[in-house]
Amino acid sequence: MWKIEDAIDLYGIERWGNGYFTFNKNGDLSVRPTKKDAQTIDIKNVVDSLAAKKIKFPVLFRFPQILEGQIKELNGAFSNSISEFKYNNTYQGAFPMKVNQRREVIEEIVRSGKKFNLGLEVGTKAELLAAMSFELGPEALLICNGFKDDEYLKLALNAVKLKNRVVIVIDEFSETRRLLELSKTMGVKPLIGIRVKLYSRGSGKWAESGGESAKFGLTTTEMLDCIKTFAEYDMFEQLQMLHFHVGSQITEIRRIQKAVKEAARVYAKIRQMHINIKYFNIGGGLGVDYDGSKTSSDASANYTMQEYANNVVYSLKDVCDEENVPHPTILSESGRALSAYHSLLVINVKGDKNGNHNKPVEMRGNEPHILRELFDGLKEINIKNYIEYYHDALQHREELLSLFNLGEIELEEKSKGEILFLQICEKAAAFARETENKSDDFEDLNKLLSKKYIGNFSTFQSIPDFWAIKQLFPVVPVTRANEKPTQYGTIVDITCDSDGEIDKFVDLKDVKEILELHELNNGSYYISILMLGAYQDTIGDYHNLFGAANEVHIIVDDSGEWHIKQLVNGDRNCDVLGYVKYNTSELLSVFESEVVQAQRENRLSKQDAEDILNNYKDSMNQYTYMDL
Ligand SMILES: *Cc1c(COP(=O)(O)O)cnc(C)c1O
Repeated sequence: MWKIEDAIDLYGIERWGNGYFTFNKNGDLSVRPTKKDAQTIDIKNVVDSLAAKKIKFPVLFRFPQILEGQIKELNGAFSNSISEFKYNNTYQGAFPMKVNQRREVIEEIVRSGKKFNLGLEVGTKAELLAAMSFELGPEALLICNGFKDDEYLKLALNAVKLKNRVVIVIDEFSETRRLLELSKTMGVKPLIGIRVKLYSRGSGKWAESGGESAKFGLTTTEMLDCIKTFAEYDMFEQLQMLHFHVGSQITEIRRIQKAVKEAARVYAKIRQMHINIKYFNIGGGLGVDYDGSKTSSDASANYTMQEYANNVVYSLKDVCDEENVPHPTILSESGRALSAYHSLLVINVKGDKNGNHNKPVEMRGNEPHILRELFDGLKEINIKNYIEYYHDALQHREELLSLFNLGEIELEEKSKGEILFLQICEKAAAFARETENKSDDFEDLNKLLSKKYIGNFSTFQSIPDFWAIKQLFPVVPVTRANEKPTQYGTIVDITCDSDGEIDKFVDLKDVKEILELHELNNGSYYISILMLGAYQDTIGDYHNLFGAANEVHIIVDDSGEWHIKQLVNGDRNCDVLGYVKYNTSELLSVFESEVVQAQRENRLSKQDAEDILNNYKDSMNQYTYMDL
């Protein structure tokens, strides 16, 4: 008997869901944006209501309340550590805009972060222009990182004139003199930070962002030169932040501890030079447990948010006390941890793509002996002999192929042989399951027999990091979790690119290459890809001209009722054509004159001409994905 608990365990949803996701009693994916049971959203209900409103899938769901929840959790964690270790200062965050620049996302982050003095961190002129439009809390900081030309510096200095809590971080040594010179000319005294290059590195996929050969940061020598230059300009008191960032998604807690200790030592030594550094900015790196394993695997992190805060606060305090310097205000630029959970994509699935090999093969009696061998194999395979029979079948298939290549058998016979082979495989796989045979042979067999589910989405647009850096994202069915999944499958997207396939799935111990899914029985089947809120929104591209997905922003009220707060239309064909510089009205007029010409030459009737033209116009305004 399959129970909902079995599905929860199989997909690991409560291990990686951080309390936000589970399956409910109906077998539907459900989301608790506030982590309160009374405020649970059945995603199937939302899907049905969107379908009734003729909103096309794929649809990206955003839950602003999850952003709020994560902000509260992070600030709560630091506040716990600060009181536990009697740390003599406070914590505040700054959301790094590169993780998700979407206006609605930043608006929500700024709104719910206000009482925590959550600021923003930017790395480019465009991000700065956007960030300048927000009203932050009184102590919140707007931190300017990244490579800075004079235009960037000038814009940042003008921001200082308007808002006094702007910090310009020197990420690269050559910025020092240019910044000081421009500040003097413009008569502005900005808060200034320096980013140090640490020997410590992160771990996981982004380990290379830290260490000696990191792209950003000042070496010890550069830092000392930089400080001398500050003295020259009499700007010592503006130097208020020490910043480092050793890479995103740090999977091992001891790496964080090591980096904080090294940077704390740098802070203390600078402090002892009578430079009044107020802010100790530990950058990003707080990991998200995408696979729920709580290990140092790339898709996970071997620590909780609370342990992260504890390690930072404790290590920093330890060094400060030893060096006899005051405890600085702790800042972190956690982006992934705040935003990853807040969005998920729901895709609809069109038929699975595996030839039908279930029909019985009829033998006439005059078949080549190889078909007879396979036929008998299928008849005789049983739980005692299946291993041997499966191996024989592999051999027979090999032989079938060589006979075909020698021209000795016909297509019809080859097809029969292939069907018989797959039927033997199905039986062998079933016996392997029954006898709990976990040998590599039979794992491979499951993969061979797995189905390709055609998912209505683009990997490149919606989960770019899966393609680019093999990052894993959890994938679950939206419905039917109360039914035992009987198929293994991978999910191919609808781009014409063979890379567009999800064939790696999160698992407790390993990475799964096939996912347990349900047989498609004519009805619609929806699958969700979760935890897409960090980095995916803007890294996604227009491969094959699939555009942004339709979006709904959902909140749940006190009575547990969900509401669509906002609906954002995805791209239409004319939009994506515009991105690659086609002018749609020009396209239309070229097409129109072709139609007129054809009509003039009597190749088209008036009615046909009209229909063709209307069809072209309609297509321009249609959603880029499949209409399923
Ligand atoms: C990318 C980046 C971050 C965000 O890191 P997360 O791991 O997403 O929290 C923070 N600070 C700087 C300087 C960055 O470049």
